[in-house]
Amino acid sequence: MEKQEIRVFNQKELENIVQAFGEPRFKAKQIYEWIWQKGILDFELMTNISKKLREGLKEAYTFNVFTSSHIQESSDGTIKTGWKLQDKSMIESVIIPLPDENRYTLCVSSQVGCSLNCTFCATGKLKLKRNLTDFEIVEQFIQGNKKSNEAYGHNLTNIVYMGMGEPLLNYENVIQSVDKLTNPNGFGYSTRRVTISTSGIIKGIEKLIEDKIKVNLALSLHAPDDEKRTHIMPINKSNKIADLIDVLTRYYDQSKSKISFEYILFKDFNDTTDDARNLVKLTRRFPVKVNIIEYNYVEGVPYTKATEDRINSFAKQLVDNGVMTTVRRSRGKDIDAACGQLANKFR
Ligand code: SAH
Ligand code: SF4
Repeated sequence: MEKQEIRVFNQKELENIVQAFGEPRFKAKQIYEWIWQKGILDFELMTNISKKLREGLKEAYTFNVFTSSHIQESSDGTIKTGWKLQDKSMIESVIIPLPDENRYTLCVSSQVGCSLNCTFCATGKLKLKRNLTDFEIVEQFIQGNKKSNEAYGHNLTNIVYMGMGEPLLNYENVIQSVDKLTNPNGFGYSTRRVTISTSGIIKGIEKLIEDKIKVNLALSLHAPDDEKRTHIMPINKSNKIADLIDVLTRYYDQSKSKISFEYILFKDFNDTTDDARNLVKLTRRFPVKVNIIEYNYVEGVPYTKATEDRINSFAKQLVDNGVMTTVRRSRGKDIDAACGQLANKFR
């Protein structure tokens, strides 16, 4: 019989498992902590568990640990790792170190590929193969944290769901993974250190409100009106900007979490003073920061990045209108680790 991956079980289910081995229920909590707090993926190392239980677990269960298929380091310190999953799917995660700010951010993938076909995105050019499970998301964190310690001598401080895939179209697994990262019995991160980036799935944001989730949200807006946005992001046909603003207002009221708009500036497409004026209008309902992102070259995409002058005057127009704005220079460009470039070329 093939051994089953143990990390698909939550704490309650682990209790049933240990009881079936004739052991007391609290053993499940200890196992849970070994896995989700300490990142130990070997039953032998779980020293407060009886030998009998360890042996029993080892016979029936396993940890399908990722193998890394390639690791690339950028000249700016960014590290991209490609992971080969059990079914041979490939995903990538990226560590972005900012030592000056004491910030070590891991960018995780939530799906293998993506179904949404944003015209500017390399991941969108792949079809969706499947959702990642919650432990496959957390495993990126466990492995990333190891790597971060080796490379920079520092634990990861922030986790962003900005790798491959649309996190809110893999809602259950993403939220389970957030729980494991933020649960005090798990890794115990503050939800303020977790950011979900979404192309704008209204149903998913409604679910976040219903479930009282409090992570930071980044909306990949990229255009300030429906006509332009639909042109580059087909998902906008069914998730219109005004409705997104409404649901984000409710999300803010519930969570008081940080919300940001991601805005890639494309030359002569969304970089005019009119565009900036329309964008300003979308920032009045809740506190929001606009992140202007440099467009990263993706093969076959009919856009180019806005000129340096335009980027600066666009940002200035936002700031002059009282909008908190940052211009994010891309990191890891030389290794295709920048946003939107994650698309396992090595397939
Ligand atoms: N699907 C989610 C999260 C993954 S994409 C989302 O769309 O938000 C992560 C971020 O990278 C998004 O803001 C996305 O719009 C951006 N991105 C995609 N392609 C890009 C490119 N070529 N250059 C710069 N950013 C890009
Ligand atoms: Fe998918 Fe996000 Fe890329 Fe759009 S930008 S195709 S939603 S990964």
